[in-house]
Order: sequence, then structure tokens, then C-alpha cells
Amino acid sequence: MSRKVRHVLGISGGKDSAALAMYMRTHHLEIDMEYYFSDTGKELNETYELIQELESFLGKKIIRLEANSSHKNPFDHYLDIYNGFLPSSMARWCTQKLKLEPFERWIGNDLAISYVGIRDDEDREGYVSTKSNIQSIFPFRKHIWSLEILHKVLHNSNRDKIASLFTEIAAPELLDRYIEIVLEPQSPKYLFSQKLKDLLQLSISTFNRVVFDFLKDENYPISNLNEYSLLNNEDNVDIKKVFQLFKDNGIKIPGYYDEIEFEVNGQKGVYNRSRSGCFFCFYQRKIEWIWLYERHQDLFRKAQQYEKDGYSWMDNETLEQIIQPERIAQIKLDYIATLQKKLIKNKSNKLVDILADDVEVCANCFI
Ligand code: SF4
Repeated sequence: MSRKVRHVLGISGGKDSAALAMYMRTHHLEIDMEYYFSDTGKELNETYELIQELESFLGKKIIRLEANSSHKNPFDHYLDIYNGFLPSSMARWCTQKLKLEPFERWIGNDLAISYVGIRDDEDREGYVSTKSNIQSIFPFRKHIWSLEILHKVLHNSNRDKIASLFTEIAAPELLDRYIEIVLEPQSPKYLFSQKLKDLLQLSISTFNRVVFDFLKDENYPISNLNEYSLLNNEDNVDIKKVFQLFKDNGIKIPGYYDEIEFEVNGQKGVYNRSRSGCFFCFYQRKIEWIWLYERHQDLFRKAQQYEKDGYSWMDNETLEQIIQPERIAQIKLDYIATLQKKLIKNKSNKLVDILADDVEVCANCFI
């Protein structure tokens, strides 16, 4: 017997998850979406403003997930438990305790489809739960499936089953080509990525339908649905379309993305903050720490207060060291030089595009 499936979408405070919420509200109102926000208690004000604005737009409450029930701010609560040990990319307890665990507690044993705002122009996978009752779907991508599902569907051992599913639903004039692609085994000469591309080129919605039908015999949340409107989704949303969604729906882009001019030793540059998340996030580039110091000095000083007992946010220098005038100038000059190199290679001249993928970041906090 089919079980009820919840549809959930996490708002991180970043542009992509906000755009996905707008997209689902305008294109897939038939899906009864539950929106949530895992509050670390240390977000930028712009994030809280965006959440409020989105709530009015969506006409729904965005549920705040509590990481802890103590009266203390969630981040500080866990920092005490970790004896002041600051999180880092190598020891990211913050994501685990403040984002993943509250989310998985909230879902419990329910079946859930989690909608993730990874864009079509990004080459990453984002959060895929290790819990079998939670499945990720990616509406902005050319296809909507996780890599794990795609590998299963296109596995050589499933070729006959997939061929028979295409036989049932493919347009007759394309069937021979489908069978040819499906029956050719993956090998060093015919890679998974090429096989996927060949199938998607013929029809995205047919491919989605075949995957959906294949999953009916598997044990995924989506296996419990009789119909799913996203199967016909042939949109693919890149960064330009994300900004367009904000514009079309009259939602203000969070102010920290604004590019602000600075001058150093006669050279001009622009900086901003490239992502949402905690104001002290250790994923920040050095130029973003300088942005925080120069634009939100109160928050910078608060971040500084956490640096004690030998712990610091960066590996090789403290916040006190980074704000020495000659160090600030050097960081700005290095950043201008890096940007110039990237500008030559990049099609876009927007900072968020240019800098988007140059560091591995936490998909939970920044999408
Ligand atoms: S934004 Fe950064 S510091 Fe905050 S929870 Fe995410 S990874 Fe940790």
C-alpha cells in the first residue's frame, strides 16, 4: 500500500533556494510544499529579511527548525559542548548539529521528497540524505534525479528493463534510437555521462517518465506516488534565470550580494559577500572577511570574540592579523588580480558568477 509522501524545501537564505521556492510556488502549486529554515542563530540580517519576504510571497509559514531546546543560541549551545572548538571545513560539526540533525528529526520516519536548488549550470550534487526515507529532487536541472538514482537506472544490469520501459512510452519514430542507446553497455568507450546526454537529448520528459516507472519497483519515497507533475518539467534554470525569478516575483535580492566599490593603492575593485550562512562562516574568502570588517564591523567584532584558547576561523592567521592596514591592502590587491584573471575566462562579469565555484562549500547552508 502506498504511504503518504511529504514535499519539503529548505530555505538557506541564499538566492538559489529562494528562487526554487518562487519557482515551485509559480509552476507547481499542485505540490503541497512544506518550507523550512534551519536557523543557526548567526545568520546575516538580510537572511531573516528574505525569509519574511518569502513567507508573504508563498502565503505559507516557513517553519523554523530548532537545533536545541536550551534558551541559548543554537551555535553557542553546541560550541559549549565542543569546548570552544570552532568548526572548520575539516570538522564541520555546525552543519551536522545545526542543519542536518534538526532536519532529519523534523522528518522522522515520514517519507519525504526534498527539493534542492542546485542549478543547471552547476556541477555538484548538494545534500543527499543518507536516510532512505528522504529523497532529493533537483527541479532546476535538465533532469531532476540524484546521481545515485541515475547510476542505478543506467547500470548495465538494467539495460533490458529500461529498454522495455522505453518501448512502452517512447515516441515510435524515436524508439530504435532509444533501444540502440540503452542496449549499448557503459564502457570506457561509452561513458555514463555520454549515455545520459544521448538519452536526454531525445526527450527529457520521456527520460523522466522512464526513471519514474523504473523506481516504482524500488524503495524510494517517489515509488509511492502514482503521478508526479515534475516529470514533464523541461526547464533548466541557470544563474541568470535565478536573478530573473527574483525580478519577476518582486522579491529583493539579499543586500550582501550587492557589489560595492573599493579603492586600494590607486586600483579599483568591487567586493561583496558571495553566500548566505553564518556571518562568521569559515568558508568565507579573505576578501569577504574584509567586507565584513568594513561593512558590518559589529559582526566582525563578534566573530573575533570566538577566537580564543588558540582557536581561529582561518588556518593561517587570526582576524586580528587580517585587519592590519597593510594586510587589508594586500588582500584587496591579490583579490583584484585574481578577479582580473577570472574575468578573462568567464562569460559573465557579475561577482556571484565569477566566484561561485572556486571553493568547495557547504551545500546545506548556501544553496
Ligand atoms: S554557514 Fe558555515 S559556519 Fe554556519 S553552519 Fe554552515 S558551514 Fe557552519
